[in-house]
Amino acid sequence: KRPPSRKGSMADVPRNLLDQIKAFEELFTVDTAKLNEIVDHFVSELKKGLSKEGGSIPMIPTFVMDWPTGKEKGAYLALDMGGTNLRVCEIILDGNRSFDTIQSKYHMPPELKVGDSEALWDYVAECMEAFIASYHGSIEEVEKLHLGFTFSYPCTQYAINHGILQRWTKGFDIEGVEGKDVVPMLAKAFEKRNLPITVTALINDTTGTLVASNYTDPSFKMGVIFGTGCNAAYYDTLGNIPKLEGKVSLPPDTPMAINTEWGAFDNEKVVLPRTKYDVQVDEESPRPGQQCFEKLISGLYLAEIFRLCVLDMHDCGLIFENLDVTAFRKPYCIDASFLAMIEMDPFENLSETEELFLTKFGLKTTEPERKLFRRLAELIGTRSARLSACGVAAIAKKTGMTEFHAGADGSVFNKYPFFRERGAEALSEIFNWPSKKQKDHPIKILPAEDGSGVGAALIAAMTLSRQERGEK
Ligand code: BGC
Ligand code: MG
Repeated sequence: KRPPSRKGSMADVPRNLLDQIKAFEELFTVDTAKLNEIVDHFVSELKKGLSKEGGSIPMIPTFVMDWPTGKEKGAYLALDMGGTNLRVCEIILDGNRSFDTIQSKYHMPPELKVGDSEALWDYVAECMEAFIASYHGSIEEVEKLHLGFTFSYPCTQYAINHGILQRWTKGFDIEGVEGKDVVPMLAKAFEKRNLPITVTALINDTTGTLVASNYTDPSFKMGVIFGTGCNAAYYDTLGNIPKLEGKVSLPPDTPMAINTEWGAFDNEKVVLPRTKYDVQVDEESPRPGQQCFEKLISGLYLAEIFRLCVLDMHDCGLIFENLDVTAFRKPYCIDASFLAMIEMDPFENLSETEELFLTKFGLKTTEPERKLFRRLAELIGTRSARLSACGVAAIAKKTGMTEFHAGADGSVFNKYPFFRERGAEALSEIFNWPSKKQKDHPIKILPAEDGSGVGAALIAAMTLSRQERGEK
């Protein structure tokens, strides 16, 4: 398939729309100097997060204190409670850097995301029971199973099998969970159904991605998620984590995986280029003032930023003249796949974009309007990729790693057009590499191994061998 043309004539675009494009370009472009300013501040915030005083980036010690050896073995359950699906897997690690997986996906009813805590855990347990029943027959015959539970929200950990939810992110809003340890809640729901499952490890999706990628290829030293939310994990050493002083008595060179929760970067609003649209997205979200970096980058918010820009232009009388935009006023009525489609549309006439607006919202667009939308989507998508690169660069600079792979997962990384190329180009600007192409770069952001399945199983396996060795 021939790649669609990316550019074309703007000759038919009237002056006022061209001026608007220019205004958006100014608002959304992050130039090299700004990238560097962001990275510098990011590095100091990463360090602050590890200090006793703390900072806005949580920098959570995960109590994953080993790199995988590749020799991990056995069968483990893995549960991924993400935003859209609930995924249950059984992973068989073969002791030789490979594995087998069986998995089932269960729908996550949207009302559960804003409902009652017990209903949530009961539903999770119900899905686990269904999974075990379908692969093992009757529950009574099953022996004790070890579970790696991937819970992709910021949790304070004081041990690998505990985690206190700091706050919900990504639009979740369930009462009675924030500030509490989620493991006993899940364990209680298992007990109610007599499920022989032990929650052996509670992990973040980024930590799982880090460990799973490193297991299959040791050049992977970072795990990153660019999906509904955005976050990264890497290994630091205890000596660099002053906030654990007196809490863990192990040598300073002991590794510790850190779930950065970098989505919270710049919550204090010092350095990120936030437009009035970003401010509005934040203010109208369930948790204003939180996850400020994530809100400029991740899949949940990209299309919402676009929608607010489009509505603003309409309200100023610039586009959709005499059209009823009521349907388009509904918050979050489009998602990142809508922007992705606009970005993939061949530039000649942008006919798919025309279809999209017409069929979804009854909005008849003119060709100049569509050219403006295309440029706007590019700007928002490009800003997301370039800001993402700042996070990866900051961790590289903080740790001193100069040559490695970052394992990335998530819908934006996997599906959003040009995200990877744009991120790689931004990295080359930050590090002053001569080539813009990722293949020439010493730091590459590459597709990761399955973190919330294989990664969770590995961490459960690593936890059990630590226990066998009598380590904490
Ligand atoms: C959460 C992180 C998670 C990320 C990607 C963020 O909203 O706070 O824990 O890793 O989304 O799923
Ligand atoms: Mg996920």
